[in-house]
Amino acid sequence: MKKTFSLILALLMVTALFAFTGCSGKNDQTLDGIKKAGKLVVYTEAGFAPFEFISNNKVVGVDIAICEEIAKEIGVELEVKDVAFNTILGAIESGKAAIGAAGITITDERKEQVDFSISYTTSKQYIVVKADSAIASYADLAGKKIGVQLGTSSDFIITDAINGTTDDDGNHVKGDFEGSGATVSTYANPNLAAVNLKDNKLDAVVTDKLPAELIVQNSDGAYKCFELVYPDGSLTDESYGLCVAKGNKELLEVINKVLNKLIAEGKIDQFIVKYSTEVTAD
Ligand code: GLN
Repeated sequence: MKKTFSLILALLMVTALFAFTGCSGKNDQTLDGIKKAGKLVVYTEAGFAPFEFISNNKVVGVDIAICEEIAKEIGVELEVKDVAFNTILGAIESGKAAIGAAGITITDERKEQVDFSISYTTSKQYIVVKADSAIASYADLAGKKIGVQLGTSSDFIITDAINGTTDDDGNHVKGDFEGSGATVSTYANPNLAAVNLKDNKLDAVVTDKLPAELIVQNSDGAYKCFELVYPDGSLTDESYGLCVAKGNKELLEVINKVLNKLIAEGKIDQFIVKYSTEVTAD
């Protein structure tokens, strides 16, 4: 009896400790919580230059420069964590980080999980191949080995093209490459996918425009890239946004205020030029 009582008491004390120290695994990522903690925690995936990459053991890039401005506006330190891209939205949802900043395309599916800021730049899908590759169009990817970054729009586009999709009535819609023998392999980032082009483990890598162009620029002439154009002539069109937990309104207002100012001052374009040059010079 006495033992049970001590156990309950111990449990109560641990619970109280967790409650007081905020060690419940879920941090307060509201504007007030961030101010109290003195730091703004941002999750990214640092293999996506110029938006985020490692330089001198530090994560830098367009998204990080934007988040530095947001931290400055709030008056706190910025803490950037490099994680797997496909875990970012979940980490924002569960309160592990306040902001997801990783060249994240704003989509309706993702909006079900998180809230997005205004768009700060746009992008398109690009196809990277070896310089001597005969692949010259999206249609040429039929039967080919294609690499993408796990959980990205490129992943969804290619996986759907290979497996087909299901329409609202539950009917199967044949994918562009379905039955062609094309395969998709997923990687932690497009750079890790692109190294597999060299020894022909992959025939093509699909990723966003600027990361694709920088992979080509840094390949010493080994690769080339071109825009993804669908057989009917239509193009991809994506907008990047920062994301926060659903309903984290006050933080989102600060983010949008900072983004509007940076856009108006032409700063986002300046960041893109600065970090594209920096990664090429590395
Ligand atoms: N814009 C793409 C997406 O959101 C890729 C982002 C990334 O790889 N960091 O899916």
